[in-house]
Amino acid sequence: TAFLDRIDALNPRLNAFITVDREGALAAARAADARIAGGDAGPLTGIPVAHKDVFCTQGVRTSCGSKMLDNFVSPYDAHVVSQLKAAGAVMLGKTNMDEFAMGSSNENTYYGPTRNAWDPARIAGGSSGGSAVAVAARMAPMATGTDTGGSVRQPAAMNGITGIKPTYGVVSRYGMIAYASSLDQGGAFGRSAQDCALLLTAMAGFDPRDSTSVERPREDYSRDLDKPLAGLRVGLPVEFFAEGMSDDVRRAIDAAIAQYRELGATVVEVSLPNARLAIPAYYVIAPAEASSNLSRFDGVRYGHRAADYGSLEEMYEKSRAEGFGAEVKRRILVGTYVLSHGYYDAYYLKAQKLRRLIAEDFRAAFAQCDVIAGPTSPTVAWPIGEKSDDPVQMYLQDIYTIAVNLAGLPGLSLPCGTGADGLPVGLQLIGNYFDEARLLQAAHGFQ
Ligand code: GLN
Repeated sequence: TAFLDRIDALNPRLNAFITVDREGALAAARAADARIAGGDAGPLTGIPVAHKDVFCTQGVRTSCGSKMLDNFVSPYDAHVVSQLKAAGAVMLGKTNMDEFAMGSSNENTYYGPTRNAWDPARIAGGSSGGSAVAVAARMAPMATGTDTGGSVRQPAAMNGITGIKPTYGVVSRYGMIAYASSLDQGGAFGRSAQDCALLLTAMAGFDPRDSTSVERPREDYSRDLDKPLAGLRVGLPVEFFAEGMSDDVRRAIDAAIAQYRELGATVVEVSLPNARLAIPAYYVIAPAEASSNLSRFDGVRYGHRAADYGSLEEMYEKSRAEGFGAEVKRRILVGTYVLSHGYYDAYYLKAQKLRRLIAEDFRAAFAQCDVIAGPTSPTVAWPIGEKSDDPVQMYLQDIYTIAVNLAGLPGLSLPCGTGADGLPVGLQLIGNYFDEARLLQAAHGFQ
């Protein structure tokens, strides 16, 4: 009730939630009480959680931030949702997001922008901005998100909380509305690395309904939290520190690295020479996959259907024209173009080759270090509207996060002080494949 009341008080200003399920939450809380009384409680039993509105929830609308799905109620739960239900977590509602997870600011949503928890005139970050603001503003103790190209880590950084995206394949994508399937990965937001570890432990695990789900034994991501950091090898990519970072972010990152040294970590220089190619590669591959994934929204099977049309063809055209926002249309156009005959080799195939080179860079770097550290975002949260008319400016904000998705590696953002105007700065830690427990240990040791 305390969290629901806080949502009622703050959501009109922050717009972090698209849907609040008060009745469902109270019923789940009563069921959790009974479980606790019966001695059958796990670590998340009775703990409230908010889900990004990209996860399908049976009986509760799943909009994906789009007019296209404004009326869509899923007949089933996403794997992540059913796992958390089984753990006894209490869903409060569904959080605001950039439409179909396409964006870095939370301005590309049908429901109006989410506002930054520290300054409502600024962007929340994206695309999982609603989840990050819900946790930062104490409307929920923890929340789920998805990260295709930074969408958990960047809004975590913008709002001064911790967020982790695990290795590709650790969290099932079943029931998670697809944007770019080879990059999409569910992740966790919390006020601390410890909370993220608890949430990720409940979310992760093999699921035969997702063909890219990795079949490995279940892990307890909290297991190494209290191990000391002495001897941890922290790699700093020269390319991340060469240019691009604003001065205030740089000061906070430098101070965080100094703190790691004090905690006993050794700092080594590493190189990711192809990381600069991550943005062009991503903004070919992600739209290509999106153009294919979003073809299912045709007005027949899901969501919005135009009211007036003559032919079937016209029904498709009008439904999609009315249902999708400008950024989604831009990506469908770009994606269709790069996949088309005559352009496929020049763009899509080339981007796939860059993707391999980027992954090879990380492989070489992890021969020298245990975790890679750098900024999550080049700047603190910017004023709403500042970049919304310039897609390329917006895409450039993803420079530090996107290479991680292209390589399929785990990444985490943790708060490391403040930059300009007292706004939070995020330190990004990147781990080797399946090294989530170590990332969380490194973040917990710092916190
Ligand atoms: N900002 C990136 C994009 O617009 C990443 C989004 C995401 O991770 N879902 O595609």
